[in-house]
Amino acid sequence: MSDNCLFCKIARGDIPSKKVYEDEEVFAFHDINPVAPVHFMLIPKLHLSSLLEAEVEHAALLGKMLLLAPKLAREQGLESGFRTVINSGKGGGQEVFHLHIHIIGGGNIPPMVKRS
Ligand code: AMP
Ligand code: ZN
Repeated sequence: MSDNCLFCKIARGDIPSKKVYEDEEVFAFHDINPVAPVHFMLIPKLHLSSLLEAEVEHAALLGKMLLLAPKLAREQGLESGFRTVINSGKGGGQEVFHLHIHIIGGGNIPPMVKRS
C-alpha cells in the first residue's frame, strides 16, 4: 500500500469509485473516462507500480487477475469478448503508476493498431 497512490486510495475506499468487484487481493472499478461503453480496471490491492516491477512472487496474483478478467467482463455484459490493455511505464503510456488491467468492450472496438 502506498500513501500517495490514487489507485491504493480507491482500493481502500478513501476515494470513491464505481466498484465492479472486490475480494481480499484485488479490486475492480469503472474508468472515470471510458473509451468504450464498458471500461473498467482490475487492480491488485498490493501496490505494484507496473508490470516492470513484477517478480516471480507475483505470478499467482497476476494469474488470478487474468483468469478473473473474462468472468468480470461477462458479468458486465461483454459476452462476445473484450480488450485488455496493460500500459507499463512511461514508455508504455502509463499515467497511473499502480498496475492495472483495462478491460474494454461493447460497441465497436476497432483494431488496436491501424495499418495503412
Ligand atoms: P493508464 O494510462 O493505463 O495509466 O490508465 C489510467 C486510467 O485511470 C485512465 O484510463 C484514467 O481515465 C483512469 N482514472 C484516472 N483517475 C481515475 C479515477 N479517480 N477513477 C477511475 N479511473 C480513473
Ligand atoms: Zn498503489
